[in-house]
Amino acid sequence: MDLAFTPEEQAFREEIRAWVKGNLPEDLSHKVHNALRLTRDDMQRWAKILGKKGWLGHGWAKEFGGPGWTAVQKHLFEEECALAGAPRVVPFGPVMVAPVIMAFGNKEQQERFLPGIASGEVWWSQGYSEPGSGSDLASVKCKAEREGDHFIVNGQKTWTTLGQYGEWIFCLVRTSTEGKPQTGISFLLIDMKTPGVTVRPIKLLDGECEVNEVWFDNVKVPANNLIGEENKGWTYAKHLLSHERTNIADVNRAKRELERLKRLAKTEGVWDDARFRDQIALLEVDIVALEMLVLRVLSAEKSGKNSLDIAGLLKIKGSEIQQRYSELMMLAAGPFAMPFIEEAMEAGWQGNYPGGVTANAPLASTFFNMRKTTIYGGSNEVQRNIVAQTVLG
Ligand SMILES: Cc1cc2nc3c(=O)[nH]c(=O)nc-3n(C[C@H](O)[C@H](O)[C@H](O)COP(=O)(O)OP(=O)(O)OC[C@H]3O[C@@H](n4cnc5c(N)ncnc54)[C@H](O)[C@@H]3O)c2cc1C
Repeated sequence: MDLAFTPEEQAFREEIRAWVKGNLPEDLSHKVHNALRLTRDDMQRWAKILGKKGWLGHGWAKEFGGPGWTAVQKHLFEEECALAGAPRVVPFGPVMVAPVIMAFGNKEQQERFLPGIASGEVWWSQGYSEPGSGSDLASVKCKAEREGDHFIVNGQKTWTTLGQYGEWIFCLVRTSTEGKPQTGISFLLIDMKTPGVTVRPIKLLDGECEVNEVWFDNVKVPANNLIGEENKGWTYAKHLLSHERTNIADVNRAKRELERLKRLAKTEGVWDDARFRDQIALLEVDIVALEMLVLRVLSAEKSGKNSLDIAGLLKIKGSEIQQRYSELMMLAAGPFAMPFIEEAMEAGWQGNYPGGVTANAPLASTFFNMRKTTIYGGSNEVQRNIVAQTVLG
């Protein structure tokens, strides 16, 4: 196993670094480095900049308009973007539904949907979970009945991340109740502007409305929005989930946030406490270990070997690390982690903190927000079951 980057890969990294430096708007990197709230426009502005360069779909093959990068190049690109403070790419379009459309959609669907995803113009949402159908995803009940050249969709999705901005949603719908639950599911693309679609925001512990309920009331969906074959959606759904889980691991963001944690600990004086430094050291060891795991997967892919199916393992480790750094940041700031007035901060308020760092303010709410990471994308308990079955046998 060779974990070192070649001179060509190092040169590629330099090229990406220079481009990101020249093209990432400063106000966006300021927000990311200080964990300030990103608006829809912020997220889409960066997506469109990447889209114009042809890098929003940075994991895509050339035949679909992507750069055709190797796994290592993709990793280097993501690392440079994260360290520079670029907003995280909203994954639902370019990372999640696009690979499904490429692998299982027909040519007409690829031509219709992929350009809007690649350019960052169209905002996609994920309609998998329902009340009662999260871990037990195969039990989805949202129904799609065929009527001529249309489906009529009735039912509800929930926890739809940023669905309030969604223009299109990819849904798992029930098209048959015959046989095993998995064999009666189809993968349908739905225009969220269609009459009968209602989006209701859910307010979370951190005070934000990051997730939504999406209701379908006799929604008429053209049959040519069905991906692949009717009742084969479960296969396509699983293909998508492996992309989602690898994406959630986000080791590059963890590296950036580790540096922020160290800055905070020094500003707040807890860096002098050997017990606190121990916690940071343990976290750093785990981040390095996660990075090694990611590099091992890349190395295996580079040498043409079939890497282990460890998307679930990356998700477990990555999400636990995200929770730990958010907790340590909050502990570092102590009571100063509490005040959190988004509007005031956006208007330039810096907080009256020791050292005067802006970075303290959203720490408590970020800690609350990060509780989600071990739940979404398939809970960590369920991932452990999957890893036990597929890796350990
Ligand atoms: C912030 C956030 C954003 C999300 N965004 C989206 C989105 O955009 N689109 C979407 O479709 N979904 C989304 N989800 C939903 C997410 O995928 C589900 O919450 C998740 O799959 C868990 O399902 P559940 O909430 O129904 O919990 P349940 O399945 O009811 O699980 C409850 C508890 O039981 C445990 N459990 C369940 N089954 C087992 C088992 N077999 N073995 C051991 N333990 C088990 C779970 O680990 C969990 O602790 C989001 C969730 C969150 C929190």
